[in-house]
Amino acid sequence: MRLQNLTVIFIIIILPVILLFSMYTKTQIDVLSLQETYTATLNVAVYDAVKAFKTNTLNDLTSKSAQSMIRDVNASINTFASSLALGFGVDGQNQDYIMQYIPALVYTLYDGYYIYSPVINQTTGEYEHILKPYIYYTVRYQRGNIDVVVNYTLDNYLTIYGNIGSEYVTKAGYLESLELLTINGDNVVYDGITITDSDAKAYYKSAYDFTQWVTDELGEITEGDAKPIGDWDQESYSQFAGHTQQILNFEAGNNPRDDNSIFNSHRKGIIKLSIQNNLNAAMASYSQNSSYYFRMPVLQDTEWDQILSNISVIGFMQGIPMGMKIYNGYSYVVNTMNKEMVTEDTVCFTDTNGKIHKYDCPQMIESGAIGHKQYLFEKIQVETTELVNGSYETTREWTFRTQSDYQNPDGSYDQFDYGSYELCYHCMVSNDYTSVINNTRRKLLLETVAREKYRLYNKSNELNI
Ligand SMILES: [Zn+2]
Repeated sequence: MRLQNLTVIFIIIILPVILLFSMYTKTQIDVLSLQETYTATLNVAVYDAVKAFKTNTLNDLTSKSAQSMIRDVNASINTFASSLALGFGVDGQNQDYIMQYIPALVYTLYDGYYIYSPVINQTTGEYEHILKPYIYYTVRYQRGNIDVVVNYTLDNYLTIYGNIGSEYVTKAGYLESLELLTINGDNVVYDGITITDSDAKAYYKSAYDFTQWVTDELGEITEGDAKPIGDWDQESYSQFAGHTQQILNFEAGNNPRDDNSIFNSHRKGIIKLSIQNNLNAAMASYSQNSSYYFRMPVLQDTEWDQILSNISVIGFMQGIPMGMKIYNGYSYVVNTMNKEMVTEDTVCFTDTNGKIHKYDCPQMIESGAIGHKQYLFEKIQVETTELVNGSYETTREWTFRTQSDYQNPDGSYDQFDYGSYELCYHCMVSNDYTSVINNTRRKLLLETVAREKYRLYNKSNELNI
């Protein structure tokens, strides 16, 4: 073939194909980078929402009331909306434009959750985001003469109310394994460790009584007995039908502290189902009068595990046009610094070297180590208003807490100076260390968690739960 012919073939056939292909690739790359930018913007907004929520709730020294929680959630939502608007380069006035792509924002808290989502305003006929009423992690069990409602939490605490035979009961408490816990008079032993701290002992005694009561009265309840509180999500509960595992029997092999126990698998299943059902409903209602079909994405099991064990914020963003595609993403951030729950991951230990450690850090000096809730080492903002030259001036200052918090083994309280300790580099900063676990350290961890849970429990007793 002559060279001219080849050139003609190249210009007429191959060149357009190359051009088209490179245009297509460029569009694909544009969509990909746009998708990444949107996801990054959403991540930042959810992170900012959690940060605002954390700061507000930790600063709140006095109250834990429902009203103060709603105020803190609303403040966090405002932060989310302005962070998102900023990320999209939209000024504050046009925040609503971006919010139309947010079918839901979820705050999973200790014993329930809030959904912030659009509903139709009956007067204007337009969608408007509102904070819906708090939904508890509840489920109803019916079996024989038992008809009770159980309110689960993100840990081993639960509240029970309803009828057992002809008796109406209301009980709340922490659950512990009856296999691992032995109480003999004033002697408390958990998994081979003798507990000596007075509040920790009180925690274990009360948990033992409560767990024994639950096992005696409700031990026969199986997963198959679970029913929704209302009628509307009846169908989704049929997945439990025929399941015969006893979920509230703690005599053998069902450790409420073990993440994979029957109790915890069921507890997580119930909370997940409740959140999914209510999110599906919220998104379906938003889809009714929208051009986009909003839907609940499928979250990975590992993501649910994180969400169902921590206070967290989940943001959904959907329906933004991106060339040929439409953006559909979500982001979640957990908040381990909170006052509402105590876990092995939310406590830390100070030693006589002035350092803050994890319980299994080899750098920690065991003798004289003291356990604390970790959030106490976060700085708080203190507001002071003073009369200066005839007018009031408000100053805000970040400071450490100094309050009576540490209880000595004899029951007395000591003033503790949180500002004078610094994070250990090995365990708290770089997380690069070889774990050391012995009975002294296990006892320290068990007692700290139990003591702090007991103090939270006392708070809920004040509320007459
Ligand atoms: Zn350390």
